[in-house]
Amino acid sequence: MEKIAEKRRIVLVPFPAQGHITPMMQLGQALSFKGFSITIAQGAYNQVSSSQHFPTFQFVTIPESVPVSQKESLGLVEFLMKLNKNSEARFKDCVAELLLQNGNDIACIIYDELMYFSEAAAKEFKIPSVILSTASATNHACCCVLSKLNAEKFLIDIEDPEVQDKVVENLDPLRYKNLPISGMGPLDRFLDICREVFNKRTASAVIINTASCLESSSLSWLKQELNIPVFPLGPLHITASANSSLLEEDRSCIEWLNKQVPRSVIYISLGSKAQMEAKEVMEMAWGLCDSNQPFLWVISESLPEEVSKIVLEKGYIVKWAPQKEVLGHPAVGGFWSHCGWNSTLESIVEGVPMICRPFKGEQKLNAIYVESVWRIGFQLQGEVERAGVETAVKRLIVDGEVAGMRERALVLKEKLKASVRSGGSSYKALDELAKHLKTE
Ligand code: UDP
Repeated sequence: MEKIAEKRRIVLVPFPAQGHITPMMQLGQALSFKGFSITIAQGAYNQVSSSQHFPTFQFVTIPESVPVSQKESLGLVEFLMKLNKNSEARFKDCVAELLLQNGNDIACIIYDELMYFSEAAAKEFKIPSVILSTASATNHACCCVLSKLNAEKFLIDIEDPEVQDKVVENLDPLRYKNLPISGMGPLDRFLDICREVFNKRTASAVIINTASCLESSSLSWLKQELNIPVFPLGPLHITASANSSLLEEDRSCIEWLNKQVPRSVIYISLGSKAQMEAKEVMEMAWGLCDSNQPFLWVISESLPEEVSKIVLEKGYIVKWAPQKEVLGHPAVGGFWSHCGWNSTLESIVEGVPMICRPFKGEQKLNAIYVESVWRIGFQLQGEVERAGVETAVKRLIVDGEVAGMRERALVLKEKLKASVRSGGSSYKALDELAKHLKTE
């Protein structure tokens, strides 16, 4: 009997934003270490450059279905709705072409949960599909809760003040007011997208870039709720470190860090999308200077001349830093972060305590975990004003109180590193995923 060759190609469909592309590319690298061939199917916008860091990957472009210019004007939810609707047919064509090119060899389509149009092609060509969730397991669980709101047995008005203070069942310490809805546009539309993402799923498993030691209760919740395997195999950036930065990293900051006292520097980065108001930038600049601690600040806005001079005497400014390397540098004593999930993981992996200044949605969940569950940092609430900035920086870098936070961060760091080593929970989850992909 003719032996049927094992299918080895995995098609990955990332969402075109830095915080989503990075873990997807790392997953691709981790799976290629396991012997799979990798195809990246990406839109025309925010493309990862193919040749430099991923010479063995195949890259294909899904023709642009929603002009980039509409992303900002539509808002995230409407953009996602339109992108998914318009991409369905285009992606089917793309997969048909890939099947031809690769002799029918596609073992699985792994798509970012926001690119749920991928399901239609998977179904049409009878290819198994798996979801990658690039945020925390807790965020995934919260969106699952949101997707069920107002369904038959789950009639809850989360805007009711009495409901807001209630703990979300089995997701302690989260309360309904913590569900990641702020900054996501009108609530009804956000709930619509949660339903789209969750309720029509046919994927055979979910991969989450987290580790059991960070979010065991949310992971147990998900395993019960989803009825499909959940693979917590993170942090992926330890397992696979390929660089997929869309912007050029300014490495001059490493030389500057080399000249600083150990654990003296506060590193400030508010993620790839953050835009601060001019007034906040000024307050931040003065507060940082008043703290008398050296600081490394990632900021794309230009500072007015009168502050720029004084800022450059005390700190160092870059437009984009090699963040993982910065966090691992001995001079860095703390991280002022917007608490994007990748940044949060990267900080924990280096045992760096945090000041949390989340803007919206899931960042707020991560900040609650940093402050109240892992207790490795604190949130800065209210308006940004210089005295508050100064106090927060001193509290993080200078005060003894932070010693406990740093100690806990270092314990968590060791646990995370153990989880990706042979026999660790994330290591095993990656192995199980590889088996799952081969046996589907
Ligand atoms: N990042 C970086 N250099 C910078 C700022 C950010 O390399 O100067 C990277 C960071 O390491 C992380 C990603 O950009 O991997 C940001 O992802 P995150 O989920 O933290 O936030 P998002 O940008 O998605 O809000």
